[in-house]
Amino acid sequence: MLDLDFHPTGRHFLQIPGPSPVPDRILRAMSLPTIDHRGPEFGALGRKVLADIRKVFKTRHPVVIYPASGTGAWEAALVNTLSPGDAVLMVETGHFAALWQKMAARLGLATEILVAPGSDALLPEAPHWRRGVQPDQIEARLRKDSDKKIKAVCVVHNETSTGALSDIAAVRKAIDAAGHPALLLVDSISGLACADLRHDEWGIDVTVGGSQKGLMLPPGIAFNAISPRALEAAKTARLPRAFWSWDEIVAMNADGYWPTTPNTNLLYGLHEALEMLLGEGLDHVFARHERWAEGVRAAVEAWQLPIQCVEPQRRSPVLTGVIMPAGVDADAVRRLIYERFDLSLGTGLGKVKGRMFRIGHLGDSNDLTLLATLAGCEMGLKLAGVSLAGSGVQAAMDRFAATDAVPRSLAKAA
Ligand code: PLP
Repeated sequence: MLDLDFHPTGRHFLQIPGPSPVPDRILRAMSLPTIDHRGPEFGALGRKVLADIRKVFKTRHPVVIYPASGTGAWEAALVNTLSPGDAVLMVETGHFAALWQKMAARLGLATEILVAPGSDALLPEAPHWRRGVQPDQIEARLRKDSDKKIKAVCVVHNETSTGALSDIAAVRKAIDAAGHPALLLVDSISGLACADLRHDEWGIDVTVGGSQKGLMLPPGIAFNAISPRALEAAKTARLPRAFWSWDEIVAMNADGYWPTTPNTNLLYGLHEALEMLLGEGLDHVFARHERWAEGVRAAVEAWQLPIQCVEPQRRSPVLTGVIMPAGVDADAVRRLIYERFDLSLGTGLGKVKGRMFRIGHLGDSNDLTLLATLAGCEMGLKLAGVSLAGSGVQAAMDRFAATDAVPRSLAKAA
C-alpha cells in the first residue's frame, strides 16, 4: 500500500504559492455525499456558487466554471474570443506569462511579446522577470498598430513565478489612451481572492481564475469571467472549440446546471470558500494578505537577501521571490528545508531555476504560520551556509506585533 500520509507529526507547512493549504471547514464541506447533478439540490448549489463567485471577480456578468486546472481556463479564454492567425500582444512578466504565450502560439495565434526594458546584474538571464507589466509599453505598441491588427492584449495579474503584481487598471487606461479596440485578457489565477481585482470596473474582457490559490480549494476548478464584449467576440471567433465553448455552459448555468458532469464535491468546497471569504469581507482578505507580505518582506530584508521584484509598489501580496547569492543552489536549500523541517517552498521556474525560491503567504494562514515558515527558512539558509545579516524572524515578529491583525478601518463592530 502507498502511504500518502508521510508527514510524521504535526501539520506539513505547504508554503508554496499554490496550491495553498485547504481549511478544515472546506475539507469537511467537500466530504458530503456526491449528489445527482441534474437534481433539484444541485441546481440550488449551482445557482448559489455562480451568483457568489461573481462577487469575487467583481462582475455582474457570467463567470464560467470548468472542471480543470488553470491552464484549461487559459485555453478557454483564447479559443472563445480569437480566430486562427489573430495577432495577440503578450507581456512576459515571468514563467506563467511565457507559458500562456506558448499555448497561444500552439493554438495558431500570431503572438508578439513585450518585455520590460533594462538589464540586471543579479538575474542577467531574466531582468524582465523582476518587474510587473509596463503599461506605457503597451500603449506605445498599440498606438503603432494603426490598422488595428492586434485583437487581444494578454497579461498576468499576479505573476506567481516572480512575485510581481501588475496594475491592471493602468493596462486598461493604456489601451484606452491608444484608442485601441483589442480585448483585454487577464490571468488572475493567483491574484484572485488575495489581491483586489475588478473585472467590470477595470474593463477586463476575460479574467482567468483557478481554485487552488486564494480560494483555498484543492486544484480542479478554473474560471472565465466574461464581459459582454467577449461574449460578442465569441459569436464570430473561429478557433476550434468544443469542451471549452462558453455558449452552452452559460445557457445551462442560468438554471444552475452544466452541460457536462460538474465536479460536485469541489463545488461544495467552493460554496464554503465563498461563505468564508465574503463573510470576512474581500477588503479584509486583501489587507490580511498585504500585511503578511509586509512581514515576509521585512524578514527577507533583514537577511539582506534580494527580493526578486524590484518595483516596491508591485511586490505581490501572495508570494515573495528570494534570490540566492551566486553559487548557492536554491533548490538544494529548498530540499534541505523540506527534509529537516517539513516545509515546502516554491521552486524557481524556467529561466530562474536554482537561482531563487518562493515563499507563499496566501490563503489559510496566520501570523504564527508565517513566523514558523520564516523560522524554517532562516534555519535552512544557515544550515546551507548562506550568511544572513540579521534575523528575519525577529523582523517579522516586530512587524506583526506593531500592526493589528484586523486593520482598524475594516474591523467589524463587536
Ligand atoms: N497562471 C498562473 C499565474 C499560475 O500561477 C498558474 C499555476 O500556478 C497557471 C497559470 C497554470 O495553472 P494550472 O497549473 O492550475 O494549470
